[in-house]
Amino acid sequence: MKINITPSSTALPDAVRQAKVDEGGFGKYFTDHMIIANWHVDSGWGDAELKAYGPLSLDPATMVLHYGQEIFEGLKAYWQPDNSISLFRPDANGKRFAKSAKRLALPELPVEAFIKTIETLVKQDKGWVPHKVGSSLYIRPFMIATEVAIGVRPSKSASYILIACPVGAYFSTTTAVTVWISTEYVRASLGGTGEAKCGGNYAASLLAQQQAAAQGCDQVVWLDALERKWVEEMGGMNLYFVKGKGKAATIFTPKLTGTLLPGVTRDSILTVAKDLGYKTEEGMISLDDWRDGVASGEITETFACGTAAVISPIGGAKSEFGNWPTGDGTPGPITMQLREHLLGIQHGTIEDKHGWNVKVC
Ligand SMILES: *Cc1c(COP(=O)(O)O)cnc(C)c1O
Repeated sequence: MKINITPSSTALPDAVRQAKVDEGGFGKYFTDHMIIANWHVDSGWGDAELKAYGPLSLDPATMVLHYGQEIFEGLKAYWQPDNSISLFRPDANGKRFAKSAKRLALPELPVEAFIKTIETLVKQDKGWVPHKVGSSLYIRPFMIATEVAIGVRPSKSASYILIACPVGAYFSTTTAVTVWISTEYVRASLGGTGEAKCGGNYAASLLAQQQAAAQGCDQVVWLDALERKWVEEMGGMNLYFVKGKGKAATIFTPKLTGTLLPGVTRDSILTVAKDLGYKTEEGMISLDDWRDGVASGEITETFACGTAAVISPIGGAKSEFGNWPTGDGTPGPITMQLREHLLGIQHGTIEDKHGWNVKVC
C-alpha cells in the first residue's frame, strides 16, 4: 500500500504539544496527523493518505451510521532506552483486525499494510510519544462501512482510518478496581461477534456498565450467555486468576470458547508467566468456583488485562448473589510482578526474548 504524505500546516508548536503529552489522561488529545485509505469492492484498496488530523465528512445515509458495520484495534508505541520507538506485537493486532473484518463482512487489510501505515504515522508524530514509564502512544486503527445507502447488506466501500493519542496510566495501579458481575446482560454468545473487535459489542455493553457504576463498581464482569455461569471477561479486558502462592502458583485464565475476545495482552501474559517459572492454565471457571476459591484461599489474586491498562488488579466482586473480595483488596504480589515484567519488556528495560517489540524509528 502506497502512502502519500501531506504534512499538516497547523501542527502544534513543540511547547504546546509537550504540555498536552505531559498531561497524561486517556484519549483526550490526538496527534497532528491521521491516515485514511479507501476500499471499493470493484477496485480494492487505494493509496493511503497521511494528512492533518481533522473531522470526517459523511453523508447522513452512510451505512456505518445505521447498521454499525465497524471494527477497530488498539495498540501502543513506546520509547526505548536507546532512544528508538517500538510497537508492541503489531502483527498480532494486524491479524486480529483482518479476522474482525471478515466477521463484519468488511474487506481484509493485509497485515503488512496495517503495520506500514502505523509505522508511518508514529514516525510522523513521534513528538507525541510520551517518555514516562506507564505512558505510551495509543494507536487506534478502525474501519467503517462508507457506502451511501439505507438498504441492509454488506457495504461496497469502506474506509480504514488511523489515529493516535498520548496516554498515561489507564487505571490507578495502587488501588484495585471493583467489579459488578452482570447476570442480566451478556456481552457475547456463540455464533455472535464476541471474538471480533467491533464497536457493536461495546454499544451492547454500555447499559451493564451503567448498572455496574450504579452498584458502586468500576467495571462489569461478563458471564457466558447460555448458562450464566462461566466467567468470561471484564469490560473490554480479559481476566486472570492466581491460584496458590509464591513459586507454586498457577496463573489461570478463562479459555477462548469462541465468545471471548482473544487479547494480545492475555496471550503475552501466558508466555511471561511461564518465563517467570509459573504454571499456566486455560480453562473454565464458574461464578461459584471464583467465590468458593477466594473463600478457601485457593484463589489468591484476580486481575484483568488489555492493551489500554496492561494489567489492572481486581479488589472485590459484587453480584446479585452477594459480594466477595478477590484477595485482601490490594494489588497482589504476582499481579504486580507480571505487570512490572510486561511493562519492562514494552519499555525495553527487560529483555524481549520473544521478539515482540518492532522498532519503528
Ligand atoms: C480489546 C479487548 C480485550 C483486550 O485485548 P488486547 O489485545 O489485550 O488489548 C479484551 N476483551 C475485549 C472485549 C476487547 O475488546
